[in-house]
Amino acid sequence: MPEQGSEKRQSQKGGERFDLVVVGAGPGGYVAAIRAAQLGLRTALVERRSTLGGTCLNIGCIPSKALLDSSEQYAKALTGLADHGVKVGDVELDLATMMKRKDRVVRQLTRGVASLTKANGVVVYAGAGRVLGAGRVAVGASGDASDPGTGGGNETVLESDYGVLAPGSNAIELPVAPFDGTKVVSSTEALSFDAVPERMIVIGGGAIGLEMASVWARLGAEVTVLERLPTLIPGWDDELAAGLRKELERQGLAVHCGVNVTECRAEGARATVRAEQSEGSALELEVDRVLVAVGRRPYTVGLGLEECGVELDDGGRISIDDDFRTAVEGVYAIGDAVRGAMLAHKAQEEGVAVAELIAGRAGHVNYDVVPSVVYTWPEVAAVGRSEAELTRDGVPFRSGTFPFSANGRALGMGDSAGFVKLLAHEDTDRLLGAHVIGPWASDLIGECAAAMELGGSAEDLARTVHAHPTLSEGVKEAALGVDGRMIHGL
Ligand code: FAD
Ligand code: NAD
Repeated sequence: MPEQGSEKRQSQKGGERFDLVVVGAGPGGYVAAIRAAQLGLRTALVERRSTLGGTCLNIGCIPSKALLDSSEQYAKALTGLADHGVKVGDVELDLATMMKRKDRVVRQLTRGVASLTKANGVVVYAGAGRVLGAGRVAVGASGDASDPGTGGGNETVLESDYGVLAPGSNAIELPVAPFDGTKVVSSTEALSFDAVPERMIVIGGGAIGLEMASVWARLGAEVTVLERLPTLIPGWDDELAAGLRKELERQGLAVHCGVNVTECRAEGARATVRAEQSEGSALELEVDRVLVAVGRRPYTVGLGLEECGVELDDGGRISIDDDFRTAVEGVYAIGDAVRGAMLAHKAQEEGVAVAELIAGRAGHVNYDVVPSVVYTWPEVAAVGRSEAELTRDGVPFRSGTFPFSANGRALGMGDSAGFVKLLAHEDTDRLLGAHVIGPWASDLIGECAAAMELGGSAEDLARTVHAHPTLSEGVKEAALGVDGRMIHGL
């Protein structure tokens, strides 16, 4: 059953023996396995999916970004190039080629992870892992995404000193709109529609909802977003959320916030969705696809947690202490299945930290500086605390905001919507938060995160020489703005 990796070592009972067995090969699990192997631990990685990389590489971050980029190229070719003086003839969509390209990107990356695990000497087991207790994991038959199975007859038992559980998450189903795999779907199906829907409803105005809504709207679907709370991307900076809504509506998306979806009836080729709006009126829409993107929950089915004493919290997440230890000695857990943001980079950092802790080093994740990005266009990105959070916590702060409409590079690109907002402590000037809406906000937030990780101040960013003309000058100007001395803005 081992697929690849270094030479085998027998346990006393005849099965395979490792220092560490990791269950789940998403960004949390495969990174933990590679880092552990780098630190000299003999490591096994168990994955029930046929490819490595987890949700992120197979049905998450990577395919969604590939489609976001392709659809953005199409939208630009349709309407965005004329302003640059570029005339194109008839622009046609070849959805099959777009999907094939997305699949190629996914394949390249999942194979890349397989090569990396092999090169590092990680032994990969294909199959569903089940924890039997401290130091023992059974590997059974591979299961599909909805049912990992519990192994059946052909189980191999792996013995190890330590175990790391990284089983990830799956989409939450709405009782009023259960998935049917064709008309009422999760993001997995929405990444592979074989035709552009004429009309589509997206339930949930969070990251997945807005990214997929953007893809299909750019490709020609009439998209309506229904969000339960009063704003899109709830929990983000208010100005970012309002700015994003304005831009998405300008792009033709219909957005309804504060709505309660009461019914979703799928009949024939169509689905009818009913929703109540906060002011009392009702909406009824007939569409060909409904994407339900109302969040994800930890996926722990078939792992045998209850039987072996690994505890779950009220939200179904695996309970861990500050060092990722579960209630069972020697068994750790990381990633989407534990507390905190469900983000690939958070899972990866936890993977590194847990491997280092197990190897006797000082592994640590700074949860105060985990950036978040929504890859719409404009993109929105944030790190650290928002104005609302600082006000709630009574932290005195100053802010500086610089609009991209005053940034030479953004104007040259024809992408000048949005702004950079920096928040710094009123007394110490230490950076407390950065909030960006605009072109390549996803990359700009990296500089802000690095400055915060290093304990930097707004003055540090303001005095850093930034190349001209770049979008990053927006960060420098916002930093100057914290002290009321912007050069290119007021
Ligand atoms: P996962 O990636 O879910 O991996 C867990 C793995 O464990 C899976 O491969 C699963 O098959 C396997 N597994 C589960 N149980 C068992 C078992 N019993 N035995 C063996 N294997 C098992 N995050 C970002 O940071 N940026 C983005 O742009 C982004 N975009 C996303 C887009 C979409 C559409 C979705 C759905 C998610 C996106 N995310 C994004 C979230 C990101 O994918 C997750 O946060 C990340 O994958 C979590 O990593 P993980 O290792 O904890 O779990
Ligand atoms: P989310 O939590 O980001 O957003 C879900 C949205 O659905 C929320 O705005 C919520 O208020 C709304 N909602 C909940 N119930 C509803 C209902 N009954 N009717 C209407 N709206 C409802 O979740 P998601 O977008 O499904 O993403 C899942 C996870 O994946 C998130 O934790 C996210 O961080 C991660 N993810 C990240 C990225 C990224 O980093 N770019 C992209 C995709 C997913």
